[in-house]
Amino acid sequence: MKFKKIKGTRDILPEETEKFLAAEKILRKTMAKYGYREIRTPIFEESALFIKGTGATTDIVNKEMYSFVDMGGRNLSLRPEGTPSVVRAYLENNLYKKRLFQKFFYYGSMFRQENPQSGRLREFRQFGIESIGSISAQSDVETILLGLEILKNIGLKNVELHLNSTGCEKCIPSYKKALGDFLKPKLELLCSNCQRRFETNILRILDCKREACRKELKNAPKCIDYLCSECKTHFQKVKNLLEKVDVSFTLNPYLVRGLDYYTKTVYEFISPVLGAQDAVGGGGRYDRMIESFGGPPIPAIGFACGMERILLAMEKEGTVKEADKTLDCYIVTMDEQTDEEGFLLLGKLRKAGIRCEKDFMSRSLKAQMKDANRLGTRFVIIIGEEEMEKKELTWKRMSDGLQKRIPFSVENILQEIRS
Ligand code: AMP
Repeated sequence: MKFKKIKGTRDILPEETEKFLAAEKILRKTMAKYGYREIRTPIFEESALFIKGTGATTDIVNKEMYSFVDMGGRNLSLRPEGTPSVVRAYLENNLYKKRLFQKFFYYGSMFRQENPQSGRLREFRQFGIESIGSISAQSDVETILLGLEILKNIGLKNVELHLNSTGCEKCIPSYKKALGDFLKPKLELLCSNCQRRFETNILRILDCKREACRKELKNAPKCIDYLCSECKTHFQKVKNLLEKVDVSFTLNPYLVRGLDYYTKTVYEFISPVLGAQDAVGGGGRYDRMIESFGGPPIPAIGFACGMERILLAMEKEGTVKEADKTLDCYIVTMDEQTDEEGFLLLGKLRKAGIRCEKDFMSRSLKAQMKDANRLGTRFVIIIGEEEMEKKELTWKRMSDGLQKRIPFSVENILQEIRS
């Protein structure tokens, strides 16, 4: 029997892992610059955390969670997103008592049982941030600036910012009513999912990708026309600040996100080269979540970006950089005696910080040279009988084939590598 990976999961092979690592290094560096510190929360939590946090009416909770009952009868789920866990950790560890305003980032796998397609997986990696404690429009804009800078530094060339405001508990009911009045006569023309959403969470209809539903949504009322004065002022401040820091954006009055908790500002980072799944990231304010978890009324804003989708967009843009050649030296040997000498040299070179390899399969000279080429080494060291007798080694530079004898010593090898 041959085992196969689970549908919607991927093996990230070493070459691709190197691309992830390069992106992760950049993201950590940029996060540090903005004062966001890494938080690592468990990969599984009580299911109730996501039902309450992400929202009982969302597709994520209703249809996509990997939930199970453990041996102790506890109802657990693999995390489908990061925000509820960060908020739980913030409250459970009383972090707000130390300093109300705190900024976190996380990076890791998320799990959703979606229909796999290009850019949509069942296990995918997200990095995200949570800026907790401020209602200022400056914190909204800081998260956007940070997201855009990370995406640019990772290497994505074209990113568009789509922006909207989804109001608050004061103004959203009147918008929901207006949307309901508009959609009610068209209800039978909507897909069965949207008909269900009409009852459970009407805003989510705006996010339906089906052509038939999109057609019916033309000229639907816009949330920004129903904002209360507080939400209107906040949104105006966000837009003004974005203009002042030279960030262009597209107002998308129908942008709602897949999670229930958003209030006021919502946004998405869009890559125009991607097809149907064109969002590389998205986020917004969630001013009510902390209080709904039993904490004080503390506002917050955050975003999450999908690493696989960013790398896919970079591939389509042709901007993925090839990883550095990872090998400095490859040691080629001739027989049992030189082979052991080669092994001892391998250890000494690695101790000196050199990335080197040798053959462990007693292969022919030709096969070893082929292997060295395949690994893309910069230099080859050949140790033959004659070299051993003269306490020398043959040094070959792969870029131009230059070959010479040098004394058999680590110092000489280091000198050659650095010259
Ligand atoms: P969300 O947590 O739904 O707000 O999504 C934030 C970002 O995570 C999206 O813009 C995508 O880049 C990424 N993402 C969400 N779901 C998936 C998925 N199933 N597969 C791959 N990436 C995803």
